[in-house]
Amino acid sequence: MTRRSSHYDLFAREGDYPELDIEGAVARLSSALSLRTVYETPETTDFGPFDELYELMRGSYPKIAEHGSFERIGHSVLVTIPGTDSELPCVLLLAHQDVVGVVPGTEDSWVHDPFGGHVDDEWIWGRGALDIKEMLMGELEAVELLLALHGRPRRTIVLAFGEDEEVQSHGAKALAAELERRGVRATFSLDEGVSTFSDAAAYGAPGTTISDVGLSQKGYLNLRLTVRGAGGHSSNPFGGTSLERLCTAVVSLRGALWKPSLTPVVARTFELLSSRITLDPFASLARDVTVNTDAIAEAASRSRELFPLVTTTMAVDQVFGSSPAPNVMPADASAIINFRLMPGVTDAHVLEWARGAVGDDVEVEVLHYTPAGRLDDPRGFGYDELVEVMEAYHPGAVVVPSIVCGGTDSVHYEAMCEKLLRMTPFRPEADELARGLHGVNERISRRVYAQGIRVMTALLERCAL
Ligand SMILES: [Zn+2]
Repeated sequence: MTRRSSHYDLFAREGDYPELDIEGAVARLSSALSLRTVYETPETTDFGPFDELYELMRGSYPKIAEHGSFERIGHSVLVTIPGTDSELPCVLLLAHQDVVGVVPGTEDSWVHDPFGGHVDDEWIWGRGALDIKEMLMGELEAVELLLALHGRPRRTIVLAFGEDEEVQSHGAKALAAELERRGVRATFSLDEGVSTFSDAAAYGAPGTTISDVGLSQKGYLNLRLTVRGAGGHSSNPFGGTSLERLCTAVVSLRGALWKPSLTPVVARTFELLSSRITLDPFASLARDVTVNTDAIAEAASRSRELFPLVTTTMAVDQVFGSSPAPNVMPADASAIINFRLMPGVTDAHVLEWARGAVGDDVEVEVLHYTPAGRLDDPRGFGYDELVEVMEAYHPGAVVVPSIVCGGTDSVHYEAMCEKLLRMTPFRPEADELARGLHGVNERISRRVYAQGIRVMTALLERCAL
């Protein structure tokens, strides 16, 4: 097997759009990265940097200002470029303005100030360079370029930038509500999601590079189990302590977890890869995905990488109420379990299931819930064009549909949007992403940034003109 020397081997057509002002785009991204848009709570957030980011956006894109409008909904931002055909549903480009802070204790590990906007010959450095100011500014760059090249598009383009994706997504909810109030409909949205190429070894196709588009996202639910206990001397723990009964309840939940299942999205991935899958069990099973659905799901659940794509997961993350001494029984004991829900599984399902699995003496309550996303069709307008463009600018990478296991703002736009696409056209190397995303020395290369803008522009040319 030959090893790729660099992920830039997957880059093509970097000479397209000679009109693209790369130096200017880099400088504007650097300015955006120098603004500390960390959202904490409505009361404690310093909104000064959000105000400055808004002014930066408004002042940097003259074509957008000429043909469209910038507005603020709270501290979130809405940009509308009305198309010539108002009957067509719009293209919705999403991103968020907020970034996570610098992890305490890692300040000294940063080579450059995370909010310094440092630029060198290769890199643009700073918190948000990969999550997700590159997409926010890159979308504006692509729309500006589109307008410069073609004038007003036929289809309306709307850009919506929430203020607090990393916290509560109130901004995205307010933006979506405002768009719905105005009767805006979108044919598809593009939002952050999977942003790096990966090897399809987990699917049994080592050596095949894939690039996935999230067509749904898993739900998020925190469940608390509580077992009441009276404490007391541990010389007579008749019936078990509260902590023991809590552990038993956790084990019961684990034993009762849903069977893995193959959504149409993941089934489609196996179909698309089937001719390249060389390793069993998937090599034989993927020859007929429809017939082997259950067996594929079962096998996928035994792979670390594929496991979260085929089942609702539970992670027991916190336990409270341990006794202060080894000879004293605990009083009330509780556990918080984090579930990531498959599309179609709701909080009500989990609550009913959990109550049925644990004993009557265990209290079960939902603490926090974000529903799973709708499962969109891995075909059709927007999706097909995104695949075509990605494969043109990144030949050698097979685009496959997927499900995002973390959260994105997209889910709040479901009602107004026919299709939600979650994929970042800005494609850093996997180790850049692993280190930089919410970590240290977050940075993006000039080449990755410029190529992402080309992909966005090409997509808009296909879908908005
Ligand atoms: Zn993000």
